[in-house]
Amino acid sequence: MNETPMRARAVVDLAALRANVRALRAAAPGAELMAVVKSDAYGHGAVPCARAAREAGASWLGTATPEEALALRAAGDTGRLLCWLWTPGGPWREAIEADVDVSLSAMWALREAVAAARECGRTARVQLKADTGLGRNGCPPADWPELVAAARAAEAEGTVTVTGLWSHFACADEPGHPSIAAQLKVFRTLLAQAEQAGLRPEVRHIANSPATLTLPESHFDLVRTGIAVYGISPSPEVGHPGDFGLRPVMTLVASLASVKRVPGGHGVSYGHRYITPGPTTLALVPVGYADGVPRHASGTGPVLVAGKWRTVAGTVAMDQFVVDLGGDAAAPGDEAVLFGPGDRGEPTAEDWARAVGSIAYEIVTRISARVPRVYV
Ligand code: PLP
Repeated sequence: MNETPMRARAVVDLAALRANVRALRAAAPGAELMAVVKSDAYGHGAVPCARAAREAGASWLGTATPEEALALRAAGDTGRLLCWLWTPGGPWREAIEADVDVSLSAMWALREAVAAARECGRTARVQLKADTGLGRNGCPPADWPELVAAARAAEAEGTVTVTGLWSHFACADEPGHPSIAAQLKVFRTLLAQAEQAGLRPEVRHIANSPATLTLPESHFDLVRTGIAVYGISPSPEVGHPGDFGLRPVMTLVASLASVKRVPGGHGVSYGHRYITPGPTTLALVPVGYADGVPRHASGTGPVLVAGKWRTVAGTVAMDQFVVDLGGDAAAPGDEAVLFGPGDRGEPTAEDWARAVGSIAYEIVTRISARVPRVYV
């Protein structure tokens, strides 16, 4: 489907993205930078964002799935690239042949990587991931010595080379949370165990965006930044993007599809959850939950129309929602700005997150493929 950008468009400012990558590199001067471009670069478009991040000095890219990594290779990316979310039977051989670094958290994964490397006669570049306290993916500390020893044996055999040792924080977006220091301590212990067992990784890494911005002792050899690359702060506690020289990359704009006068007492949208308080002007914004506007924004989501913030009036439908302009004038085709950098008076993705009880990560990532991305 080739949608016209007139209905709605997500304008992606690649110059802002490049500047954000440079600001993040300056925030972690002793480390390399990985731009995390999983989930279509948090909704911004993986291929253009990956290229822009490389231009600004991201020596690594990171994806969750191997399919995302392979799509970047198919688009011509040749730099270092790590993917970390594997399931049994995954495309190990394709990833190894494409020079993708693969993350391993368990013995089954090491066995599958080794088998694929033997099959294609290549040495797999692997990174061992430890669960230092997130309780999600990653090898538990109790199983670490076994995984490390098996990886070392596979290195000796020539089927793998261990390029990285890494982990991920649970609460880095809450600076000062006690789990942060606890995870760092476990990480250092596990690194020492791996080094004692003879592993000499190129990169050790644990810092995501919040840790990159607030915790220099977590930078090690590489920082893995996602949300900050897109100019969004990981949390209000970490601060405002501008505090770190970051600028939001995505602006979500729609063109009003209709503007009409209605009397007081008029029910608006499904369920009539908004009733006009008096004679007023309603404007129709032609984006809905199929475009990624949260249905939870019904009655709460902010939108800039005709120079003022309006609130979604009534229920967000699949393809459209309504705002009440009161006595103000607007015309079909006028812009409705849902979110952007905020410096033209529009709400930000953080404002949307607050309005719907979510996080800005979800607001940008969920903007669906039906909304054309326009790169500037
Ligand atoms: N590393 C891993 C393993 C992740 O899953 C993510 C994102 O969730 C990141 C790094 C980047 O995190 P952030 O977007 O907070 O920088």
